[in-house]
This record gives sequence, C-alpha cells and structure tokens, in this order.
Amino acid sequence: MKKTTVFLFLLSSIFLVGYFALTTYSEKIYQNTLLSSPKKMVEAPINKETVSDSIAQSFPKPNFPNDSLLINHLLGKFDYSKDSFFTSVATEHCSKPMYLQKETYKKFKEMYAAAKKDGVSLKIISGTRNFNEQKSIWERKWNTNIKTMDSLKAAKTILLYSSMPTTSRHHWGTDMDINSLENSYFASGQGLKEYTWLKKNAAKFGFCQVYTDKKNSDRTGYEMEKWHWSYIPISSHYLKKYEELITYKQVKGFQASELAPKLKSIEDYVNGIDKSCH
Ligand SMILES: [Zn+2]
Repeated sequence: MKKTTVFLFLLSSIFLVGYFALTTYSEKIYQNTLLSSPKKMVEAPINKETVSDSIAQSFPKPNFPNDSLLINHLLGKFDYSKDSFFTSVATEHCSKPMYLQKETYKKFKEMYAAAKKDGVSLKIISGTRNFNEQKSIWERKWNTNIKTMDSLKAAKTILLYSSMPTTSRHHWGTDMDINSLENSYFASGQGLKEYTWLKKNAAKFGFCQVYTDKKNSDRTGYEMEKWHWSYIPISSHYLKKYEELITYKQVKGFQASELAPKLKSIEDYVNGIDKSCH
C-alpha cells in the first residue's frame, strides 16, 4: 500500500513539473512569434546592394530594338498591338485587356506561378500605356486641377502619382501596376501578404519596386507606389537610352508640356527611381 502511494505521488509530481515546463516554454515561443512576426512583415527586409548587383546582371541580355524603334517605345509613340516586341496578356493574369513586352510577360508568368504556389495572387491592373492613353490621363487631371490651382501647383499635384506623356515608364512595356493603386491596401491583411511576398521574391524574376519610400532614400519624383513593379533587365537599358536619346524637345504634344523643364520631369521624375532598380 505504501509503495503504491509513493509511486503515485512521484508520478503526479513528474506530470505536474512536465506540464509546467511545457506551458512556460510554449508561452515563450508564442510571445516571441507575436513580437517578431509583425516586425518582419512591416520591414519586408531587402538587401539593396545585393539586389542592385543581381537584378540586371543575373539575367541573359534580352534583344533590344534599334534606336529609332526604341525612341518610339520611350515616348510611347507606337501601336503596341502591332509591335513585334509586345504581346497581349492572358485574362487570368490581368483585370482588363492589356499588352506587355514579351520578355517582361514571360518573366511575370514565372513570378505569377511561384506566387500562386505560396498562396499569393498577382493581377496586373495596368500594363503598357501609349502616349495617347497617358495624354488622356494627364489632361483629365490637368483640367480638374487648373480650375482651383495655379499651373505649377496643378502639374505638381498630378506628378505625385502620374506621369507626363513621353516620360512614363508605362510606355516601355516593362512596367506594371499590381493588385491595387492604394498604398493603404498593401499595409495590412491580404495586401501586406502580397507586398511582403513581392519584396522578398520579385527580384528573383527581375522585378523591382521603382517608386519606394522617399523618406528612406535620396530618390526624387513620384510618391511611393507599392503597386508599381518594373522588369529591370529591359527597363535599366531603356532608362540609359532615355538619357542618351531624349531631350525636353521631345516632351511635348499635351497640355502644360512647356512646364516640363521647370518641373525637371526628366532629371527628377524619369530618373527618380530607387537605386536598387538601376
Ligand atoms: Zn504604374
């Protein structure tokens, strides 16, 4: 009888100590997770130096158009539906009919599939826009703003998020807007999951967020756009060519185009991209 009592006492002690140790340990793990995971999600860490070295160099050099066609691409003055460098985007990848450069689209599809495996859905909501499409966006905003603002303020207000025709990366077929046009969408929930995935993985496919937070960089121009991603193996070449081939003489043909030099549309906006995307 005594032996049984001692045995039972020992058994329940072991059980109690074990239970206490286990709950304390799990609580610690739980607290650590709570403390560390939101930080990771918000920071979406990315090594700028590594990305800038790897993006342009770790991809085979695509075929580029000759300079006369390239000038038309840079200024958006061409018909992308008839251009041999461009292709239409399948409906599963976009929210409306659109075109991209073939190479850009090929890599996007790879990224799309990888994201899908991780439970992340990527839909392109804007792809290539030509000069006339950008002109109608610009002039619609201009005509609204100019009713209540002086001309410089009216233009600067548009330039927070929209480009002058002839200066938009959306002309190039390398850039796209993904999932939403609101930074707030990417700040929590599904949007944060998508943005965190892109920050971690897009560079593997050649994509880079060109309009990052200006507070953390010496970048000029447009405000942060968490939705705008660029295919760097082509767009870095296009940007170099823009500097070489385009001057303010070609930034014309739309309302308020004469303000472009004063607003430094080329220096501050065309060139105002994150360092890691060059
Ligand atoms: Zn965009």
